[in-house]
Amino acid sequence: MPEVIVLRIGHRPFRDKRITTHVALVARAFGASGIIIDSSDLPLENTIRRTTGKFGGNFTVRSGENWKKTYREFPGVKIHLTMYGEPIESVTEKIRDEFRSRNLMILVGASKVPPEAYEMSDYNVSVTNQPHSEVAALAIALDRIFDGSEFQRKTVTGLNVIPNPRGKTVDYIPGEDEIMRIFSEAGADEKLIAHCAAVSALAVAIARKCGASEAIVRAGALLHDIGRTKTNGIDHGIAGASILREYKISETIVQIVKRHTGAGITDEEAIALGLPDHDLMPRTLEEKIVAHADNLFSLSERITVKDVISNYREKGLNDAADRIAALHEELSGIAGEDIDSINP
Ligand code: SAM
Repeated sequence: MPEVIVLRIGHRPFRDKRITTHVALVARAFGASGIIIDSSDLPLENTIRRTTGKFGGNFTVRSGENWKKTYREFPGVKIHLTMYGEPIESVTEKIRDEFRSRNLMILVGASKVPPEAYEMSDYNVSVTNQPHSEVAALAIALDRIFDGSEFQRKTVTGLNVIPNPRGKTVDYIPGEDEIMRIFSEAGADEKLIAHCAAVSALAVAIARKCGASEAIVRAGALLHDIGRTKTNGIDHGIAGASILREYKISETIVQIVKRHTGAGITDEEAIALGLPDHDLMPRTLEEKIVAHADNLFSLSERITVKDVISNYREKGLNDAADRIAALHEELSGIAGEDIDSINP
């Protein structure tokens, strides 16, 4: 899908820090993919990166670029927001049509905007002919271009704030940097990390075929064996869940980690094994994918479902072997192909 990049020109770091930060935050929150700022402002770049790191998404920020060169050479549609332009309501349809196949660059000024900006633009667009603010103009322009669809976007990784009439609930899905930090704090060794990375790559490939959430599967699969830093027993999924709860990680991920062993552990088996938690059968599609991707690895070596099943049968674990065969069938049905033939 084409993208929108915001180009901020005339930024004076000593004077415009706050308003340019707001331009960037609005760009990110209302669906743009990144911002380019003409004057170099590393503290501002860091502020925006911290927000993206915390709240998720792939919003990019660059500063210190020659805006004339960037704008001139931009291969998509160039839109300059200015009170002296054509009314937005008269050009929205044309811009939306172009946006089906081309990227957009939206230029907003800080101090006086030079005549070249008008000349180089495909559209000079006004949001009313009254002087007001680049923050307001950008918000309205993005909303008109995306037609409200920007509100449906989910960043998935990061801190998802879930609206709630009495305050806020947060659901935290860690990105890869945060997962590496958790591994290192838990004392995971390289072998364990390599296994988790291999399982995650396969799990994401299966998720893609099955239409499951890739971000949730990636995080769940990367963390599935974090509990092995405490125990290699059958309870390592439960141990992993309690580590992740200390980090306030989303319960969606915690349950993936807790229920990933084999094709799950039934209540009766959990009681017979003396496990403290009996709710260990994978239920969601993402839980099933991570559990099964893990089945298909011996450390970091890929094995077939036939090998997995015979390993279980050799140990006399016939019920568990049957469940793995059934899970393989179920996921192959959803993916539309044999899971053994899916590779990252
Ligand atoms: N005085 C500057 C000039 O002569 O271009 C404009 C300063 S204004 C505070 C900063 C930016 O807000 C402008 O460059 C423009 O992008 C945006 N802006 C202000 N009013 C606008 C309007 N009515 N429609 C669209 N953009 C507007």
